Amino acid sequence: MEKSIFAKIIDRDLPADIVYEDSECLAFRDVRPVAPCHVLLIPKKILVDLNAAHDDDITLLGTLLRRVPQIAKQLNYDAYRVVINNGAGAGQTVYHLHIHIIAGRALQWPPG
Ligand code: AMP
Repeated sequence: MEKSIFAKIIDRDLPADIVYEDSECLAFRDVRPVAPCHVLLIPKKILVDLNAAHDDDITLLGTLLRRVPQIAKQLNYDAYRVVINNGAGAGQTVYHLHIHIIAGRALQWPPG
């Protein structure tokens, strides 16, 4: 299977503006930000989307969610929106699970 863009970023085959990294995950700025702060948090494990996660991944999924406020705090945001687009119909374009962390402007509800 061909590596996704995000797998290439993990492997440093592609550059990214990395804001956080540990043994399990990586966070970097989105190249097409929709807000002053738009960071993508990804697991290093290859999971194409949330549907691909199993019970074995529960700890990893919890770790990712725990990293969100830590990364937001590091970037000086206490209000933010967390989005996972799961599947093409929901707007997913990169098939490596990622959490959008969006902050720095007023956000409307419901989202589009
Ligand atoms: P989604 O549409 O939910 O799959 O989100 C994919 C996101 O990845 C989009 O917001 C893109 O702007 C972003 N993106 C695509 N390529 C890159 C890249 N090389 N570096 C950073 N962000 C990227």
